Amino acid sequence: MSPLHLNKQTSSKNPSNLPHVVILGGGFAGLAAGKALAKYPVKITLVDKENHHLFQPLLYQVATAGLSAADIAQPLRHIFSGQSNLTTLMDEVVDFDLDASKVHLRSQSLSYDYMVVALGVTTGYFGNQQWARFAPGLKTLDEATELRRRVLSAFERAELANDPDEAALWLTFVVVGGGPTGVELAGAIAELAQHVMAKDFRHIDSTKAEVHLIEASPRLLNNFPEGQSSYAHKRLTKMGVKVHLGEPVTSVSAEGVTLSQSTISSGTILWAAGVEANSVANKLGQVPRDRAGRLEVNPDLVLPNSENVFIAGDLAKMSDLKGKQVPCLAPAATQMGRHAAKQIARDLAGRPLQPFIYFDKGNMATIGRSSAVANYRKISINGYFAWVAWLGVHLVFLMGMRNRISVFLNWVWSYLAWRQGARIITKKLPGRSDG
Ligand SMILES: Cc1cc2nc3c(=O)[nH]c(=O)nc-3n(C[C@H](O)[C@H](O)[C@H](O)COP(=O)(O)OP(=O)(O)OC[C@H]3O[C@@H](n4cnc5c(N)ncnc54)[C@H](O)[C@@H]3O)c2cc1C
Repeated sequence: MSPLHLNKQTSSKNPSNLPHVVILGGGFAGLAAGKALAKYPVKITLVDKENHHLFQPLLYQVATAGLSAADIAQPLRHIFSGQSNLTTLMDEVVDFDLDASKVHLRSQSLSYDYMVVALGVTTGYFGNQQWARFAPGLKTLDEATELRRRVLSAFERAELANDPDEAALWLTFVVVGGGPTGVELAGAIAELAQHVMAKDFRHIDSTKAEVHLIEASPRLLNNFPEGQSSYAHKRLTKMGVKVHLGEPVTSVSAEGVTLSQSTISSGTILWAAGVEANSVANKLGQVPRDRAGRLEVNPDLVLPNSENVFIAGDLAKMSDLKGKQVPCLAPAATQMGRHAAKQIARDLAGRPLQPFIYFDKGNMATIGRSSAVANYRKISINGYFAWVAWLGVHLVFLMGMRNRISVFLNWVWSYLAWRQGARIITKKLPGRSDG
């Protein structure tokens, strides 16, 4: 490992002489990096195109009207208001000049001594970007509110339809992708239709709504033990979800989806199937990447063609020293962000960089009310206790006390009353041509 280039003659009395650390992205990795550098004599600039940190694990509840957008996001300025060595910029990264140690934002360019790139991933359509219009993904608050608009509007469209076939089309929901997000979305839409909407419409019977969950591989929840995949499958089937396994989607249109062996007509298609690296990361030069474009980084998280650029979070593709593939999960992103920060501190102290070791905190997915799967090392639990654990973990890791209280009260209310508090449509009803 070659030492990073830096004049370490810095003075904490004169902030302008302090090493400048630029952190790109205020997600789990960027946030952890910023916080871990709080006590070091560095000047930090954290850049994000949004003004908030988003708790993505609860996005599906915004998409299915269980929570409001503000419940799962927290302004970055507020999070760092007490950290005097960090400045937040709401701006978009557009390009890099690694040779000059510069990053170009939409409004200005920043020079850095160290840079942590934690820009995450976006929804991937396996080369079929034209499907995005008909089947939006779920990565941002905008996307979650768009999904909510489509799901709630579908019930309204069905209520307005004079033709029963048209009503049936609007009451058919397709979720593509049988990972945790797809399972969570399918379960939540089934519950919405069966229980929450059931009493509120006069013409349609929302309990007749069909929810299809499509997965190309032979089982749901591929990253979980097989027993938990079949548990999730059975639970969803009991909730009325039609699960299609081993059937890749071959086309998506305003009319519905075509699978390898069948076609499903649907007015609402939600995409939870793939990820691809943030496109701006293509501008980081000739670096090995996986098929999704994620950057294969050195064991210490340094970008291969640089000495002072760290990649952290979902954007980094790596196996740790023990050969363990680091997954695209919030705890992994947090650990990487923290590790990158520690390496910067080590380098400033003239110490060699250390490899990243991932500490596996397990995996969880909720299926519906009182039902989830959770595993930690060799321990797997399914059902009610997994669900309670899921609720607890998500409350604890959600950012901000106000949000925790609001989410907790919402959950209690929904549980007791079978009501969803965020059933508001704020934009016009989409027509078929809107996707
Ligand atoms: C729907 C969903 C459910 C999930 N559920 C779970 C779960 O239950 N448990 C779990 O552990 N993990 C879950 N994850 C995964 C987890 O959220 C990610 O692993 C984690 O968010 C990755 O953190 P990150 O910091 O790498 O990226 P992100 O959190 O995605 O942050 C990237 C940041 O970069 C910013 N950004 C992007 N492009 C630019 C640009 N050009 N300029 C400036 N800023 C930019 C974005 O606004 C964002 O704030 C889920 C993810 C999703 C989408």
